[in-house]
Amino acid sequence: MTRINRRDFLRLAGGSAMAAGVSGFPGLLLASTRKVVIVGGGVGGCTAAKYLRKLDPTLDVTLVEAKTHYTSCFMSNEVLSGDRNIESITFSYDDLKHRYGVNVVIDNAIDIDPAGKQVRTAGGAHLSYDACIVSPGVDFKWETIDGYDARIAESVPHAWFAGPQTVTLRKQLLAMPDGGRVVIVAPPNQYKCPPGPYERASQIAMYCKHHKPKSKILILDPKPKFSKARLFRQGWSQHYGFGTDDSMIEWIGGKQGGAVSALDATSGTLKTEGGDIQGDVINIIPAQKAGKIAYAADLVADDWCPVDKRTFESARHPGIYVLGDASSAEKMPKSAYAANSQAKVAVAAILARFAGEEPGEPTYVNTCYSIIAEEHGISVAAVYRLNDDGDMITKIKGSGGLSPMNASAEHRKREVTYAHSWFQNVIDDMMQ
Ligand SMILES: Cc1cc2nc3c(=O)[nH]c(=O)nc-3n(C[C@H](O)[C@H](O)[C@H](O)COP(=O)(O)OP(=O)(O)OC[C@H]3O[C@@H](n4cnc5c(N)ncnc54)[C@H](O)[C@@H]3O)c2cc1C
Repeated sequence: MTRINRRDFLRLAGGSAMAAGVSGFPGLLLASTRKVVIVGGGVGGCTAAKYLRKLDPTLDVTLVEAKTHYTSCFMSNEVLSGDRNIESITFSYDDLKHRYGVNVVIDNAIDIDPAGKQVRTAGGAHLSYDACIVSPGVDFKWETIDGYDARIAESVPHAWFAGPQTVTLRKQLLAMPDGGRVVIVAPPNQYKCPPGPYERASQIAMYCKHHKPKSKILILDPKPKFSKARLFRQGWSQHYGFGTDDSMIEWIGGKQGGAVSALDATSGTLKTEGGDIQGDVINIIPAQKAGKIAYAADLVADDWCPVDKRTFESARHPGIYVLGDASSAEKMPKSAYAANSQAKVAVAAILARFAGEEPGEPTYVNTCYSIIAEEHGISVAAVYRLNDDGDMITKIKGSGGLSPMNASAEHRKREVTYAHSWFQNVIDDMMQ
């Protein structure tokens, strides 16, 4: 029988990553050898693995991850400006293995049998579970842009999974002549990191301003508006001449014909509703849906995985919990912080279930920073709870908010420092 101060954990689960230390948990009465199998060693999966083992060291926790190291997408835009290298956002699973006792299996999960409670891997393993967690991130809807697919993406990178393609894109920026044009194709909603494409444009502009000042960055967007748009526009005006004839950054939204339907990779031409556009460097971020394993395991409805908002347990297959980008969590954006917060709620719910108790009342948190220039950061934050019917996650009125439009230069500079410490805190909290 497992006894645990669940209410405290649920409260902490919604709290900040830093605040979520659980060392003060009262003695757990432990006699469990239950098995939890986690698919996906990203933010959601690692956070869940670590906290399951911290809260109940008798649990047998297995993390199945396709790659030997985790390269975080968050802060990967800084690789494009040259402010950091790819090594600084790449992390090993050693702490999860040796410090927290998680069985880390480097393999590809290819199927989940909800009736037989087993995860099957490409390497031939059949991993039995009492609870399964799935946090595979997103996959692309390649069919939405003619002429663009996984093979072409090797030379026309999306760089939306941080790693080799981030490095390729950086090299292409370095090789581009001064006066060249970078075209970023932004995705339609919903996708991971709503402000990500616009932070990316800012980071590329930051590099060009110093090294290729005659260059331009054009964002082609199917959407009529985008996340933190007023703050981005303000920052772009301050640093990159946005709104003037000589602006380094230009944004063409859906209403102005910004939707891209095809790519001719040989000539570097994009077909848009407003006509053909050429780029010296092209970065296409395709439309997105839940990761492949979510489809194989029949967890998806309308691109994403519906879940019980109190626990993140799948609405399609009980006993499987879907976290992070792949889940359908309404008002919560698809972000690292959201995945981290959801993981803690799911962990509390699984421990409650193992103890034969009801799950508690969760709160969730999101904080997301974007760095527009060397000394110019902006952020958005919110706390969420269930609505009165318990079936939707809604923002708590008055919680969080956006960076103010009239912030001082000192405030903007401080937000860059906060962004960097936020990054380290999330990494620490999920896997160190
Ligand atoms: C450029 C960019 C910038 C971003 N910046 C921010 C930011 O500033 N703040 C923020 O909060 N968020 C940011 N994000 C979003 C953030 O990275 C994601 O929301 C977060 O990583 C989601 O966590 P996850 O666990 O759902 O998926 P991920 O972290 O993507 O992890 C999924 C893992 O599952 C593994 N996997 C998938 N399928 C399988 C399988 N079948 N078998 C084994 N392993 C599998 C993958 O290899 C991967 O390691 C950014 C994203 C991008 C692209």
